[in-house]
Amino acid sequence: MLTYEQARRTVIEQAQKTTRPRTTAPRSVWDALGFVLAQDVKTDRQYPPFDRSTRDGFAVRASEAVLGAKLPCAGEIKAGDTVGTPLKPGTCVQIMTGAAVPAGADAVVMLEHTRREGDTVHFDREAIAGQSIVARGSEASPGQTILSSGLRLGYAELALAAQVGATQLRCANKPRVAILSTGDEVVSIDEAPGAFQIRNSNSVSLAAQVRLAGGEPVPLGNAADRVEDLRAKIERGLKEDVLVLSGGVSMGKYDLVETVLQDLGAEFYFDAVAIRPGKPAVFGKCRDTLVFGLPGNPVSTMVTFELFVTPALDLLSGAAARDLPLLEARLGAALHEKAGLTHFLPARVEWSGARPQVKALRWQGSGDIIALAHANCFLVVAADSARIETGETVPILLRKDIA
Ligand code: AMP
Ligand code: MG
Repeated sequence: MLTYEQARRTVIEQAQKTTRPRTTAPRSVWDALGFVLAQDVKTDRQYPPFDRSTRDGFAVRASEAVLGAKLPCAGEIKAGDTVGTPLKPGTCVQIMTGAAVPAGADAVVMLEHTRREGDTVHFDREAIAGQSIVARGSEASPGQTILSSGLRLGYAELALAAQVGATQLRCANKPRVAILSTGDEVVSIDEAPGAFQIRNSNSVSLAAQVRLAGGEPVPLGNAADRVEDLRAKIERGLKEDVLVLSGGVSMGKYDLVETVLQDLGAEFYFDAVAIRPGKPAVFGKCRDTLVFGLPGNPVSTMVTFELFVTPALDLLSGAAARDLPLLEARLGAALHEKAGLTHFLPARVEWSGARPQVKALRWQGSGDIIALAHANCFLVVAADSARIETGETVPILLRKDIA
């Protein structure tokens, strides 16, 4: 059985090989959050475009603004002012944050280190050449590539595009992800479930996870545990870039997903991973659609999506696969888990102390959505560490959507 790291590598290798054409479209910077760039973005000019003051204070020649110096103030420069006249020797000018430093000046002394009496400024500290000035061109030169194709656009990347005037960005279209739940017991969330039925919460969590991972969810509802219904709905799902199924991949008599996929010509790369929850996770390819058969218990579905589907969506968007958001924390309460599988336990990490501290939450196993809805991370218990004592360092996998 593959470890979860091996299974992730398998997904990454296969997603790199898909031959589905990747399409792109121009998008406004206002509307490109979470998209992956399909072009390089270059600077339109040098940055900063002028020697910029980072303080409110006085522009000086550092050699003149020594401790105890007094200099006449020859005027003021506001942010946005056109600066033509050089600083006259033996004077200073008042300058605001974001304003251009005049030629001749080589330092800005912050207001707090000066005293003003009429037109004379007293300097309480020695100025050092270069202080409180960002030299023009020191951040970027003109025509420099500052955002590269394959980068996922977050708020800072969008601000950078806006800064250089790149208001339209060519981006990869989001991979379309068909979502199909399975199970005779599953009813739509707007129906009243019978006494032994359950609502289709997996389709909702999967759609949310697809969005967070940068895909476009295509919900296909639920298939009954019958070959004909499964086959018809899976065939519909195979029209999309990715098909994610929930349920029907365990050992039960009515777990038919693999059989139906096999009949449709799927090739499988794994059908079990050494993890709990999520062990029966299936990954394959069918008609060039990547297919994930995730176990139906909700926490299993959510964990296996994070581990295996997210990197596939990165690659299908032209980005590199994101690393898992794994951190380390101090274990807040001793743990005992059966060895042999890597466990992902719903847990809460708190950052109040010197080191982050994590505690596993009480839960009733992989059907317990309530526990996961109180968790901000998964506590990762390695396959070989059956007992972990309070105070030991443990890996945690952050829930990036809320943590
Ligand atoms: P399965 O993997 O098909 O054996 O499903 C395991 C369990 O997960 C079922 O007994 C249900 O309780 C639950 N389950 C399956 N599908 C869903 C779904 N779409 N939404 C919520 N829970 C589900
Ligand atoms: Mg089932």
